[in-house]
Amino acid sequence: MAQPMAEDEETPEERLARLILALRSQGVTHPAVLTAIETTPRDLFTPELFKARSWEDSALPIACGQTISQPFIVGLMTQALRLEPRSRVLEIGTGSGYQSAILSKVARLVYTVERYRTLMAEAQTRFAALGLTNIITRFGDGGDGWPEQAPFDRIMVTAAAPDEPKTLLAQLKPAGVLVAPIGKGPVQSLRRYTGDGKGGFAVEVLTEVRFVPLLDGVAKEL
Ligand code: SAH
Repeated sequence: MAQPMAEDEETPEERLARLILALRSQGVTHPAVLTAIETTPRDLFTPELFKARSWEDSALPIACGQTISQPFIVGLMTQALRLEPRSRVLEIGTGSGYQSAILSKVARLVYTVERYRTLMAEAQTRFAALGLTNIITRFGDGGDGWPEQAPFDRIMVTAAAPDEPKTLLAQLKPAGVLVAPIGKGPVQSLRRYTGDGKGGFAVEVLTEVRFVPLLDGVAKEL
């Protein structure tokens, strides 16, 4: 619910405009990616307690001890994926569903996997509310990818993999792109793997990031 506004307080539109400017100035310049961020109400994806901070460029806590990613990182990772309008994308770690929503506006189809039932259910409600019908969800261990739907044009991992995600790379098309945070500690390196069409990959380190870890199996709790 909207709070009564003090005169010097920014409107949600002003906050969004400021966020877009900040993203641009940090190198998120792809028009379709910026439009996706501009047209996706992040406040639908944040918990009640943090709604007022939805337009800040920061990660925020969500249920099950997880996080909704920082908008800059969402923009950067989406742009790094080099999506094409016809791309079929696999996302590991649905979380709030915010990143899936952004992907769904730039790509043709998004397959997203989450290991918490509660998060999956909440994300599905949000996709329905926004009329995002090109997102296909699955409750499961994303470490296994989605073999029945492979190969994918693009894969994005939004939880930190301890090392090279071989199972996921095997589900990528020969000239596909996979973007993932890789590392065992609290700070990981964001890597981009680009298929060379012959079974090999070029690997680039894009920046340092802080993601929650990619865990094995589905969550026992809700
Ligand atoms: N893309 C999300 C970020 C969520 S944080 C967003 O925009 O909100 C990372 C998510 O990855 C968490 O929800 C966590 O539960 C999930 N996750 C971690 N390990 C996983 C696994 N093996 N399979 C599926 N999801 C996993």
